[in-house]
Amino acid sequence: MLADRLKTLAPSATLAVQAKAKELRARGIDVISFGAGEPDFDTPARIKDAAARAMRAGHTKYTEVPGIPELRQAICTKLKRDNGLDYEPADILVSCGAKHTLFNLAVALLNAGDEMLVPSPFWVSYPEQVRLLGAVPVTVTTDEATGFDLEPARLRAAVTPRTKLIVVNSPNNPTGAVFSRERLEAVAQLAVERDLWVVSDECYEPLTYEGRHLSISSFGPEIKQRTIVVNTCSKAYAMTGWRIGYAAGPRALIRAMTDVQSQMTSNPSSIAQWAAVEALAGSQDDVAKMAGEFDRRRHIIVEALNAVPGVSCVMPRGAFYAFPNVSGLFGKKAPDGTTLRGSVDVTAFLLEHARIAVVPGLDFGSDAHVRLSYATSAELIREGLRRMDAAVRQLA
Ligand code: PMP
Ligand code: GLU
Repeated sequence: MLADRLKTLAPSATLAVQAKAKELRARGIDVISFGAGEPDFDTPARIKDAAARAMRAGHTKYTEVPGIPELRQAICTKLKRDNGLDYEPADILVSCGAKHTLFNLAVALLNAGDEMLVPSPFWVSYPEQVRLLGAVPVTVTTDEATGFDLEPARLRAAVTPRTKLIVVNSPNNPTGAVFSRERLEAVAQLAVERDLWVVSDECYEPLTYEGRHLSISSFGPEIKQRTIVVNTCSKAYAMTGWRIGYAAGPRALIRAMTDVQSQMTSNPSSIAQWAAVEALAGSQDDVAKMAGEFDRRRHIIVEALNAVPGVSCVMPRGAFYAFPNVSGLFGKKAPDGTTLRGSVDVTAFLLEHARIAVVPGLDFGSDAHVRLSYATSAELIREGLRRMDAAVRQLA
């Protein structure tokens, strides 16, 4: 019945874990979820107030497909203020979350058979989106020993005549890596030399705890003209449900992505767009406050993970994920007799015996790891890790 492209589609594993934890809790089972890549904070009041004002003012109709001019201007101002980047409103497309932005880009840019280089571990949606279009994700490994920094030489070796696009995601989901300037520059050089496009997913930009966030697009005109900068209100402003993401890039490509969007969703919610104007243009104090709290939790969770026997975790430098290596648990036996053979088994074991929900690394391209989001309270992090430690100590 279904189209062939559905034969290989894996539904979003991150959203599935989140749904599973919610379902168990609804059934009265006390599960602590480290699944959701979603801030636990509420959207700041100044942003909600702006949305309420927009509704009352009658901003309840279709808007321009790429977003209201006020929002596209606020995005240009933000890109200049935070990233030193010069764009005009005509270079901006606002979409229903960055996930939608990325899909618009893939539809506008990739033919069937075109290859996209994806540094691995990777966020689950990159390969699935391009596979849906018949394009080919080519994963290129990064190493725990470097904190999962980019590997420009490996990327270079993976380029073929079909390579069209490289994904750069810093701060990184799921590893928390913040890529070094030197390696970002090497990738920029590769893209220019080999005439490749770069998508720079900067969704976790304000959650950079060590080092400084750098947009690859800021390295000069040659790389800027082949880069699409992607960002979102979801993480910085705790606005995951509002669905506002955006892209800045070369005008012809942005126009093509806008044409795609015009046939798929039209504009993103008018009310959410007005809220996003306030988010980006208003006081950024709340962003710094949330980032400070995530930073505090980062130390709590990584220290607790490293105290669990058989588990080791490098310190993430950005985003809100810990990505511990759990391969030290492989080969051990759970109380019910099953032997842990990979990240999926470890995830099932932790849900059953520790009542904590984590995401298997396999879905992000590394079976030696699991991902824990620390966008949850310090108390729940402590309790969840206490449970994990106790469960792991029962393994034989
Ligand atoms: N990029 C990365 C790396 C992500 O982790 C996510 C998930 N939040 C997104 C893009 C998409 O975010 P949203 O659609 O909520 O803007
Ligand atoms: N990006 C977040 C995550 O990785 C939210 C879920 C999703 O969109 O994948 O958990």
